[in-house]
Amino acid sequence: MTVTVFSHPACAQHNLGADHPEAPARLHAIFDQILSSGLEYVLQHKDSTAASDAQLALAHDAAYVADVIAKQPTQGLVWLDDDTAIMNKSVTAARYAAGAAINAVDLVMQGRDQQAFCAIRPPGHHAERAQAMGFCLFNNIAVAAAYAMQNYGLQRIVIVDFDVHHGNGTEHIFKDDARVLFCSSFEHPFYPFTEPGSSKNMLKMPLTGGSDGSLFRQLAEQQWLPAIEAFSPQLIFISAGFDAHYEDEMAHLRWRESDYQWIAAALKELASRHCEGRIVACLEGGYALSALGRSVVAMLKAWL
Ligand SMILES: [Zn+2]
Repeated sequence: MTVTVFSHPACAQHNLGADHPEAPARLHAIFDQILSSGLEYVLQHKDSTAASDAQLALAHDAAYVADVIAKQPTQGLVWLDDDTAIMNKSVTAARYAAGAAINAVDLVMQGRDQQAFCAIRPPGHHAERAQAMGFCLFNNIAVAAAYAMQNYGLQRIVIVDFDVHHGNGTEHIFKDDARVLFCSSFEHPFYPFTEPGSSKNMLKMPLTGGSDGSLFRQLAEQQWLPAIEAFSPQLIFISAGFDAHYEDEMAHLRWRESDYQWIAAALKELASRHCEGRIVACLEGGYALSALGRSVVAMLKAWL
């Protein structure tokens, strides 16, 4: 057993121009750092397959999926919200991104590996059932979680989201689904300005701007780990955004690589006891390229 990394060349072809932070260079930075860290030779790399319309509609309204596809331009950009645009390669990239998350579910559920990381873009966790938002077209994690429930009959799924922004899309899609326990940490108050209060299956962990990883670790130990333990998940997903890193100027938290390694190790320990080690992580944010690559490597090291 090693760790499998899913990606696809199409994910690097969604390109909104040199000024947009959600850029193809993010994936190149991750793969460069994997190579220079020496992890290249212990990971399994696999190309993903494209998600179908029906698979995307597991987490989205079918009419919304059709609408995004119909709006894709043959040239230039079409804006779906203030910071979310599509160009002629975007829908294909998004299909391979969501497809990677589905491939990763099949891989871990069939026991071919225990942990998988999807190095994908566009990201997904801000996309609601019928709304593109925050660089996200389709909610990759939500599509894969819905796929896991439908195809493998899972009844207890944990989604941990440690991106610096709250995963409002994932909350929107699963807030009334008792099969999903969603644990989300985020800078507060900050985009997307969702209500910070928790509910039964939505554990929100607002963090003060300027705080470092020690606050996150302390609260995660108090709030998340016991809740996940009690929930006894059959599969753990991670919305793995790395924009809480202190070098990332998108937000104001001050995490280090070691904080990502810590949470990845804590979740592996829970997964080992409850679900044969099954973890599927999907890239969300992370815009400081060097910090992004180093943080991904730190997460992967916790699993190797
Ligand atoms: Zn983010």
